[in-house]
Order: sequence, then C-alpha cells, then structure tokens
Amino acid sequence: MITTRFAPSPTGYLHIGGLRTALYSYLWAKKNSGKFLLRIEDTDLQRNSDEATKAILEAFKWVGLKHDDEVYYQSKRFDIYKRYIKQLLDENKAYYCYMTQEERDELYNKQRENKERTRYDGRYRDFEGTPPSGVDPVIRIKSPLEGEISFVDGIKGEVKFSVKDVLDDFVIARSDGSPLYNFVVAIDDALMGISDVIRGDDHLSNTPKQIVIYKALGFDIPKFYHVPMILNPQGKKLSKRDGAMDVMEYKKEGFLPEALINFLVRLGWSHKDKEIFSMDEMLELFDPNDINKSASAYNFEKLLWLNSHYIKTLPIERLVDVLKEYGLDLSEYEKKEQLLELVRDRAKTIVELRDMAKSILDAPLEYDQKAVKKFLNDETFEILQKFNDELKCEQKLDSAEDFQNFTNSFLDKNGLKLKNLAQPVRIAIVGSSVSPSVFDVLSIVGLEEVVKRIENLITDLTRYKHT
Ligand code: GLU
Repeated sequence: MITTRFAPSPTGYLHIGGLRTALYSYLWAKKNSGKFLLRIEDTDLQRNSDEATKAILEAFKWVGLKHDDEVYYQSKRFDIYKRYIKQLLDENKAYYCYMTQEERDELYNKQRENKERTRYDGRYRDFEGTPPSGVDPVIRIKSPLEGEISFVDGIKGEVKFSVKDVLDDFVIARSDGSPLYNFVVAIDDALMGISDVIRGDDHLSNTPKQIVIYKALGFDIPKFYHVPMILNPQGKKLSKRDGAMDVMEYKKEGFLPEALINFLVRLGWSHKDKEIFSMDEMLELFDPNDINKSASAYNFEKLLWLNSHYIKTLPIERLVDVLKEYGLDLSEYEKKEQLLELVRDRAKTIVELRDMAKSILDAPLEYDQKAVKKFLNDETFEILQKFNDELKCEQKLDSAEDFQNFTNSFLDKNGLKLKNLAQPVRIAIVGSSVSPSVFDVLSIVGLEEVVKRIENLITDLTRYKHT
C-alpha cells in the first residue's frame, strides 16, 4: 500500500513548488489505490498563522486535489511527540543537555576558528553527574558517531552522507519540552504509515537526521523522492516576480486549475513528447521514479498556452461554473453555448473570456475613440442609419445566417461592400472594432438589442457632431 502526504508549513501561501510536490504525491498514491494525506506542519508557533493555513486549504480546494482522512495538524499532536521523546530518554537513546547559550557560542566560535563545521561536541552524551542548576536542558538524540547514512532516492539514486559532515547529537526537544521540526516529521511520517515521501530537494539535508530518528525508534524508513527545484528562465531560483506566487493569484489572473495542474505535472516530469494530460492520463502514466534529475525551468508562455487549450476544450458547463466565480453567471442564459463557443477560441485566460463575453452581453458604455475616428465618417454614418432603419422593419432575424443574408442583400441593394458596414456595426454593438464574427455577435445580441445599440451609437454621434 502506497501512502503519501503533503506537509506544508503554514508560514505563507501555497506556492506552485509546493503544489507540484502535492500533485506528485497525490498522483502516486491514487495511481496505486493508496492514500494521500494532508498534514499541516504548524509546530513553529511563532512563524505559523491561521491565515496561512486557511490560504493553503483554500488553494488545495481550488485545484481539486482531494486528500484522505481529516487534515492532520501537528500542533494537536504534541502528546504523541512527547511520548516518543520519553521513550527515547528511557531507552537511553536521547539525553538532556545542559549546555548554556554562552557555552554553545564558545564551542562554535572555536570550531569556526579552526575552520571546522560547527557541531555539538557530545559533552552531555554520557553525563552522569549532578546537572548544573539554573539551566533548562534541551533533549538531544544520540546520533551515530561515525560512518555513513545512505539511502536510495527514487530520483537522485544512492545518496550518501558522511556522519562527520552532516550530523551531531541534534536537539529533538527545546528546553520547554516542545519537539523540533525533524523529529515531528519523522514521527508523523512513521505513524501515518507514509511509504513514499515526495518533497522538494531543499529538504535533502534533513533526511539523514530523520533517518537517525527512524532507526532509533525502530520504524521502517520510507522511500524518498527529492524533487529538484523550479528555476526561472534565467536558471535562477524562481522568485515571486517569475511566478513563485500564491497559487490563488493564478486563479485571480484567470488560470484554470486543469491548466495549472497540467503545467505542473510537466514541470519536472515527462512522458515522451506528450504535453496535454487529463487527470486520468496523469494517473496512468505518472511515476515519481521518472522525475527529472535536473531542475526545470518555469515557462509562463506554456502555461498560457495550456490555459487556452483548456478554455477551448472543456465542456461548456464547466466554463459556466468557472465563470460564475469570476462574476459572470450564465447558468440561466439561453444562448450561453453559442456565446461561449464564439469567444472561447480567442481567450487565453478566464478573465479574458469573461470580458469578451461581457462585451457582447452588455451594451457598450463608451466607444473606442480611435475606432470611431477611423471607421465612422459622414458616409458610414449614413449607411449605418439606413441599415438600422431596415433592420427595424425586420422581425425574424435570429441566426447568424439570417443576419448574414439580410446584410448581404442590404449591401447588394445599395452597391456597398461589407467593409463599409462591418466595423461601424461592431463599434455600435461592442464598443470597438474588434469582436469575433460580426454575424455571430448580432445573432447572440438579438435583433431588438442590435437595433437599440446601433440607435445609441447614432444618437451619441449626432450629439457629438452638434457640440
Ligand atoms: N513542512 C515542510 C515544508 O513546508 C515540508 C516537510 C516535508 O515534506 O518533509 O517545506
């Protein structure tokens, strides 16, 4: 049974690097009919906030990765951690250390002077005398004193750490009894039965410490996958400006979770030259052992491309649901399908899709002056007026084809070309000279409203002419 987890520390929002490891963990568990757990690592009371936890849960909900069980909170598990600390003390695998802050500074300074790695020197490891008074001790674990800690990482292959280089008897509980980061991660991963830990490779240096804890308590060591970072196109660490922003910012900008998830799965993993992955395909094909060994580069254009792909291809009902969250409720609108089919090919984001749809649905509040200057003159003004007069006598124009036939015969009759009319009509209907196919737009807007909008433009221009 594969059990994975996503274990964010609520020190800020959920960013795309975090979401990517969450996605990989989710896919790997679900592909194997296993469990995917969500654990909030909120033991650092000073740096954590409820807001951040809320933001993470909200983002999680938005992308639709469902976790199993309830959400685990480390802050509610202190009793469990204490029990294991006691066990380690009882078994003489951990001990109280009374070294003061000054003594520690002195030790580290000396090591620095000697150009050595700063590390605890084990002075209380086998201490049996009377403890110094006035010092609240921390608790340290007995790490191996020499040799190597090694494990086979699913991405990096065999990883070896020399004990001398990376370990000392590190602190597992502060003097107030509160447990430390690596300790609680290891305890939780073990107790929650996590078989596969998929996380950013910025955590690689924590792994030997966590292995020390597993071994001390006789827990099975999980399989680790340390995922290389996401870099910006210049090969540097991804910054906020490059896109390392709150996942919910992507929502605000009009990205679909489908697109973001597809983008993230490919950012560091691939299957042949396939770019578009449905959730089912990801579940079928994803394997963390195939994650790239080297860092991957963030590419915003690709995300936009994927987003337009999903806008073009998702079922209309899904677009209607999404648009509701962006303030446009088309659920009761009769011509929603026609409208969305018309604009979806041109929109790269849901914000653009919404704005295009609205530009057709709502009468323009103002007209693009550049377009007015370019396309409206005495001649076109007259044509428009005549066109509208004839439209008013019509009763049955409905489909795009109806409007097209009507317009063509109007043009023929008057010896005109479409270009004399199309742009002025567009300006009247949507306020500018850019819109999808003008006959489709007319059909969606509907005859009565078309007449009204052309009338509005005429009134507006007449007023303008007379002032
Ligand atoms: N809480 C850690 C973080 O947010 C992740 C710990 C882990 O995955 O082991 O970076």
